[in-house]
Amino acid sequence: PMNDTAALYGTLRRIAETVGRAEPAGRVAHYIPVLAEADPARFGMALAFPDGETIGVGEWRHRFSIQSISKVFALVLALAHRGEHLWTRVGREPSGNPFNSLVQLEYEQGIPRNPFINAGALAVTDELLDHTDQPCELMRDFLREESGAPDLDFDQRVADSEAAHIDRNAALGHLMADYGNLRHPVPQVLHHYVRQCAVEMSCEEVARAGGVVTRHGLRADGSRLLSRGDAKRVNAIMLTCGAYDAAGEFAFRVGLPGKSGVSGGIMAVVPGRYTLCVWSPGLDRRGNSVAGMDALDRFTTETGCSVF
Ligand code: GLU
Repeated sequence: PMNDTAALYGTLRRIAETVGRAEPAGRVAHYIPVLAEADPARFGMALAFPDGETIGVGEWRHRFSIQSISKVFALVLALAHRGEHLWTRVGREPSGNPFNSLVQLEYEQGIPRNPFINAGALAVTDELLDHTDQPCELMRDFLREESGAPDLDFDQRVADSEAAHIDRNAALGHLMADYGNLRHPVPQVLHHYVRQCAVEMSCEEVARAGGVVTRHGLRADGSRLLSRGDAKRVNAIMLTCGAYDAAGEFAFRVGLPGKSGVSGGIMAVVPGRYTLCVWSPGLDRRGNSVAGMDALDRFTTETGCSVF
């Protein structure tokens, strides 16, 4: 596997020149109106080394709302501040169902299958509310520090847009509350969940912030946030649950722990070596970025850097 900066940059450049040509660009997410305005063909990709050095191509410095990529950071913070208790409330099995499915939640008595489907993320936020009454601010501040970008913040338009179309996530929250698996009021949990999804970051910033997982639990300043064991587990859940109901396809094509979001971002981790983030808003029918998957597929094939 390759670890030479110039060679890796060459790979990124080749990918940026031809990405997405083989496939239609996909469709942007429509259920959050502000996201529906995005141009599906835009593209950026960044790679951050464990020491924070970053390289990138295309629109790698353009900020987008990180959406479900935030679920990784919420999980990291919940494990750091609440520990094992989280696993009494949320599982760690792939769901095989769409990310916002209600059905499974009823079968499993209000215990979401994993922290990366929406219901699971609500449980994580609820858990964080036992640590702080401002979990989304905790995450934003953490992301500012890890990415070295003190100005990053919530995109209020995206948060408002999602809050205005919250019915399905509210239904998930209320069903969990009915089963006794939310301790805080549903509107409070939803408020923090929606804002964490609306944090605006660039590929460069996401790749740097993801370093905590790549460095086996060490923060950018070298202090330990997660035990090695918990960092391993976060990577495992990304591998098995990080790409909606296409985690198998993601492992097949990319072969890395990863997490995608409906705004077209995907963060991927080569443990111990580097963190990748790619962004392109056109999605396939399961909600993963078409050009993003293509780019990561080609990156791991060309460099030999997958966990397989
Ligand atoms: N904020 C989005 C939602 O709750 C996140 C979905 C996603 O990126 O998967 O529907």
